Amino acid sequence: MQLPNIDSIQQQYEHVYVSPHLDDVVLSCAGRILQQKNQGETVLIVTAFTGDTQKAWSHLHLKSHNLPNMEQRRAEERRAMDYLGVDHLLLGYPEVLFRSDAPAIFSSSCTHVRRRDIVLCEELLRNIRTVCQVAQVRILYLPLAVGNHADHQIIFKLGEHFLSHCELPLKLVYYEDVPYVFVPHLINYRLKRLRGRAWAENLSETEARLSDTPVLREIVELYYGLTALPTVESQTSLRKGLLFLVVAFRALSAAMMPGFGPSGCTGRKLSPEICDVSAEAEEKAEAIRQYRSQVPLLFRENEPLMDIYSQYSQNLGAAPGQFLERYWRVIERPYT
Ligand SMILES: [Zn+2]
Repeated sequence: MQLPNIDSIQQQYEHVYVSPHLDDVVLSCAGRILQQKNQGETVLIVTAFTGDTQKAWSHLHLKSHNLPNMEQRRAEERRAMDYLGVDHLLLGYPEVLFRSDAPAIFSSSCTHVRRRDIVLCEELLRNIRTVCQVAQVRILYLPLAVGNHADHQIIFKLGEHFLSHCELPLKLVYYEDVPYVFVPHLINYRLKRLRGRAWAENLSETEARLSDTPVLREIVELYYGLTALPTVESQTSLRKGLLFLVVAFRALSAAMMPGFGPSGCTGRKLSPEICDVSAEAEEKAEAIRQYRSQVPLLFRENEPLMDIYSQYSQNLGAAPGQFLERYWRVIERPYT
């Protein structure tokens, strides 16, 4: 059921997932959500950037710049939530493409939260804090912001506040952002940035091998991984090259800067939680298919939708046919 606003929250929710955009949580966490529902636990999904553009762009402009049709996307979200059987709330803020005049390639990827978004961050924080209080949430799930998307970073940063102020008795868990986590090395750059020297401790064998790749090969793998994403593959060579340079530069520079990571994670540890969602894989695929406008942008046309999840799961150490999701729980224990 879609809740019209925060005031309409009338019950306790054990799990609250915050999604930057219309699809992120379903793409990343649908398996775990289905498990929680099957166990009779209560789940609320709150999506932040669901509003229309506030600029006077014509329909033609939106189409020619490939900007999203938000009405259609909100309808897709409702279908996905109904399929999962969970309650959801849309906060209605405009996403970065609508807040910025810069080309999408530059506006959507960044290594930090921009100054002009600070007021927005404060408002979002108030909203999510109220949701957590009213819903008496037990576990709050935020994106790890793999890929440095500007909107994902804003939601990630909310966690810092909860960690530093600890005014609510909730546990914080980060989820790995799909599709960014499918691009080789991006997750390692992100973890490296967040956890300093402890970053490599909990990688699977495959990931550890990947992280030992020589830099030049790593860059080539990053290029092929990024340009193989259907949404990037269909672009011109020039745009592909430009996008790669922006992503590679920002990911690498963020990972290389010691002490540049968010202060809220300092002195705490991120501990991985592997969630086996093999039994829920088919239902997860069906939930994702509800986002009809996004599926062709995210998944290859002639490949079963779950193939890329299978590859990702195997990188985490899964057996063939097994599907995994990985989460990072914040542990209140200083680095040793
Ligand atoms: Zn997103």
